[in-house]
Amino acid sequence: MEDTFDAIVVGAGPSGNAAAYTLAKEGLSVLQIERGEYAGSKNVQGAILYSDALEKIIPEFREEAPLERHVIEQRMWSMDDTSHTGMHYRSGDFNEEKPNRYTILRAQFDKWFSAKVKEAGALVLCETTVTELVKDLTGRVIGVRTDRQGNPIFAPVVILAEGVNGLVGQRSGLRPEIAPESVALAVKEMHFLPRETIEARFNLKGNEGVVIEAMGTITRGMTGTGFLYTNEESISVGIGCIVSDFAEGEATPAELLEAFKAHPSIAPLLEGSEVKEYAAHLIPEGGYKAIPQLTGDGWIVVGDAGQFVNAVHREGSNLAMTTGRIAAETVVALHRKGEAMDGYTLKEYERRLEATFVMKDLKKYKGIPGLLDANKTTFFGTYPRLFSQAMQTWFRVDGVDKKTKEKAILKSFRDSRSLRGLLGDAWRVARAWR
Ligand code: FAD
Repeated sequence: MEDTFDAIVVGAGPSGNAAAYTLAKEGLSVLQIERGEYAGSKNVQGAILYSDALEKIIPEFREEAPLERHVIEQRMWSMDDTSHTGMHYRSGDFNEEKPNRYTILRAQFDKWFSAKVKEAGALVLCETTVTELVKDLTGRVIGVRTDRQGNPIFAPVVILAEGVNGLVGQRSGLRPEIAPESVALAVKEMHFLPRETIEARFNLKGNEGVVIEAMGTITRGMTGTGFLYTNEESISVGIGCIVSDFAEGEATPAELLEAFKAHPSIAPLLEGSEVKEYAAHLIPEGGYKAIPQLTGDGWIVVGDAGQFVNAVHREGSNLAMTTGRIAAETVVALHRKGEAMDGYTLKEYERRLEATFVMKDLKKYKGIPGLLDANKTTFFGTYPRLFSQAMQTWFRVDGVDKKTKEKAILKSFRDSRSLRGLLGDAWRVARAWR
């Protein structure tokens, strides 16, 4: 094996695969290093795949990628201990020729993407961990060292696609340790059921799928959400909360998941299923303000390692693929011009990102993590309870006239939050949402 490449990519998740594929397709010599037995073996996701980001890299992906169901219905639930108040959107338009979102199984998807990377000409080395970055006397990154015996491997640029807990960048002093208040810990199970049962339970035909995103008392006052996604013959169900909240909170991730599955709105959907997989993983949820330095002499950070997750919309893999692609396109452009890959020239990656949905969305929601942290018991406890009580009062037909019911609902809100509190909450949400 040669020990010098045009670029080295650390990690074979969506960001690393997008970067390695784009580089190799453009004819650069690429080494991609993945610590797992194969791409995807270490990775966890819900998982919704957003077509747009992948289409920009592999337009024909629908013909070959392992996709489960295309999403035709989104359910957003605010839950208290026994009920949920929901908003559903279902549309036949989502049965389009090129669907917009799919459920996937990451182990299969990452394996397929990795095969495409190899097909494009990159050298992919699995079961190999990058242990450190190699720097020259000026501090410039010039390559990597791995846990395999042998000499360092050199390249003018190293793309760090090592995921949320990227130790290589941290150990090399390029990035600070991720703060516990900027990262969520999510746990997830795969529940297997016959496909006809899934289709009957969720009112689906063929490969149609449903997504449920849930928040409320299910996280016991901690900032977090639960989810349930339909796959072909399984259901992914999970829940996650901010790590610093778990440290102070009253429940462990496993306890939250058990309670979520036992909730009267969730349990019937999972009834009779066989659990075959359990996984836990971190999600960077600090948003725009938590984005670390992204480039320096000889290095670029992409994907979760750069905190590129839009927690409000539960998007991560699309930001990962987009940042990976744009980092690679920047490197290709510099390579073609014969320019050095230094902190100055690589800034072009950040300039390009500014023009995309990635930075625009993260900037838009930059106030949300702080807002939720400061008001978690209100948003994840008080309001979900109030909504549920209001719905129950409204829909229960019990001889009480509707005017009296209206008054009772308004009073319950005022008693819990006061008029000033309600207006203040509305203003804070509107300001953070701008
Ligand atoms: P990763 O996917 O984490 O890949 C990093 C890779 O680097 C891994 O393969 C790892 O083994 C490798 N690696 C790390 N260190 C080294 C090293 N030193 N040497 C060699 N290899 C190394 N996003 C969505 O878009 N939709 C969803 O529905 C969704 N649901 C989610 C549900 C859960 C429970 C979780 C945890 C995340 C979810 N996400 C979702 C987020 C999404 O999974 C991530 O944003 C995405 O995986 C980030 O991709 P990445 O390539 O940056 O990192």
